[in-house]
Amino acid sequence: MSAKLYTVAVEMVEVSPRDGLQNEGQPVSTADKLELIRRALAAGARRIEVTSFVNPRAVPQMADAEAVCAGLPERPDATFIGLVMNARGAERAIATGRIDQLGAVSVATDRFAMANQGQTSDGSVEAARDIVAQARSAGLTGQATIAASFGCPFEGEVPEDRVIAMATALAGAGPVEIALADTIGVANPAHVASLVGKVRGAVGSIPIRVHFHNTRGTGLANVWAAIGAGASVVDASIGGLGGCPFAPGAAGNVATEDVVYMLERAGIGTGLDLDALIETNRWLARVMAKDLPAMVGKAGGFPRPRNDTEEDAA
Ligand code: ZN
Repeated sequence: MSAKLYTVAVEMVEVSPRDGLQNEGQPVSTADKLELIRRALAAGARRIEVTSFVNPRAVPQMADAEAVCAGLPERPDATFIGLVMNARGAERAIATGRIDQLGAVSVATDRFAMANQGQTSDGSVEAARDIVAQARSAGLTGQATIAASFGCPFEGEVPEDRVIAMATALAGAGPVEIALADTIGVANPAHVASLVGKVRGAVGSIPIRVHFHNTRGTGLANVWAAIGAGASVVDASIGGLGGCPFAPGAAGNVATEDVVYMLERAGIGTGLDLDALIETNRWLARVMAKDLPAMVGKAGGFPRPRNDTEEDAA
C-alpha cells in the first residue's frame, strides 16, 4: 500500500439507532441507544439518524425519542437527524433543541403511502415539502427521502418517471439532499444506476443519498452501482440491524462495516474506522442477544493486524 492522501469521498449516515432498531421487535433501553450513538461517533460517524418522532403507540421502540435527545452528547461536529412524518413530529423534534436535521419521508405509491402514513403519494410529497420548510424556518436543515423508490410491497414495480417527478417536486423545497430508498430490499444494481442517474439529472446540484436493505442480498452491489452513478451519501446500519417489516426474518439495512470495508478497500474514503465498527457490532450483538447479519462483522477486516496473522499462520 502506498501512502496517499486520505479524503472522504462518500459520506455515510448511520441509521442503526432509528431504522435499525425500529424494525427490531425486542425493546432496547434508552441507555443502550445512547451507547450505540456514542460508539458510532467514536468510530467516526458524523451524521446519525438518532430517533424518529412518530406516534409511540404505532412504534413503541421510538417512544423514548425525547429522552434519547436529552442524552445526546454535545458534538458540534456531528449532525443529529430526527425522522418525522408530519408537522406535529417536526414540532416535537425542534422542541428538543438537540436535532440538527429533520428527515422527511414521501412514498412512491398510493397504497404504501396510505398504509404507512395515511395519505396519498402526492400527499406525502406535500407533507415532506412542508417538513423541509418547517426545518428551515426553525434554523435547521431538512432532507427528503423517497420510500419504495425501487419497488412497492403492494403495487409491485414503481415507474422511474414517478420517482423522478417526486424528486423534482421535493427539490423545490430546498432539502440538503434527496434520498432514494429501497424500503423493502428489491432493487438491483442496473435499476439503481439508471434511477440515480436520472434523478441526478432532474435535481441539479442537490446531492443524492441512497438507502438500501439487504433483504435479497443485493445491498452492497446496489451501493456500488449508486456511487458509480453519482450518489454521494449512503445510509447504513451497524451490524446490518433491522429487518424488513414486509419480509419476516430478512436481513436489515446494508451493514455499515460491510459498506466501509468494500469502499475503503476500493480506495473510496468514508471517514469511518472499520475496527471500531466491528467492535461495536460485537457489543450490539450482546445487547440484542443474537448474531447480526453483517458479514465483515463476523469475518473481520483484511489485511488483519499483524498480531492476528501470526496466530493464524501457525
Ligand atoms: Zn429503511
